[in-house]
Amino acid sequence: MRPLIFAANWKMQVTPAEARAFVARFLELHPPREGRALWFFPAAVSLEATTTALQGRGDTRVGAQDVHWEPKGAFTGATSIPLARGAGATGALVGHSERRHVFGETEAETGRKVTALLAASLTPMLCVGELLAEREAGQTEAVVIRQLRAGLAGVSPADLQCVVIAYEPVWAIGTGRTATPADATVVHRAIRAELARLGASTRMSVLYGGSVNGGNAASLLAEVEIDGVLVGGASLDPVGWAEITGT
Ligand code: PEP
Repeated sequence: MRPLIFAANWKMQVTPAEARAFVARFLELHPPREGRALWFFPAAVSLEATTTALQGRGDTRVGAQDVHWEPKGAFTGATSIPLARGAGATGALVGHSERRHVFGETEAETGRKVTALLAASLTPMLCVGELLAEREAGQTEAVVIRQLRAGLAGVSPADLQCVVIAYEPVWAIGTGRTATPADATVVHRAIRAELARLGASTRMSVLYGGSVNGGNAASLLAEVEIDGVLVGGASLDPVGWAEITGT
């Protein structure tokens, strides 16, 4: 059976104390399950609390929501890869739509972050996805492929297998609108075709994200192209999150 990845993006929520309480409750509800890996992406200040609370659970990993590509320096407010790693992160989101469209992160910057994470042996989870206007203009695949090429520009074919891709249509994030499993499958196929063109020799994990919840996770995960889910709002409650991770 293909491994499934369940990734929780807590965004700008969940304090260290709340992370400890969340993990304690969640682990009671979700024993390790064969072929399932769980990622938690807390805010930087809650990385260490989350990592410590998850200790001993080999099916879980913790990542930063964003990192800077420079290892240190005068970048007030940013989190470097050594800082994230020191707090327990073994990966990071890159190019989440809120970083791109709220904070103005460029496609070239996503590439620098992916390369820096790989050089430090951390897993980049590269997020790609089109705006509603781009979808309506028939540009979905072109946008996603452009973002993939930029994000993976410095990655050798051998290192591609260390990267996880998350397809997150921007119009579906936090809106309650989800791509249908069939719509997501079309884009996932285009992503896999591009990954093959870039030289990926093995099957890379391609997740779907965008208003995933307990009611729609099963139908999305039933698609052979969808290797897991990246979830924001519905990952904030341990009971609801355990329902999804137990799908
Ligand atoms: C996300 O933040 O990556 C996300 C998919 O959010 P939501 O599940 O709330 O749409």
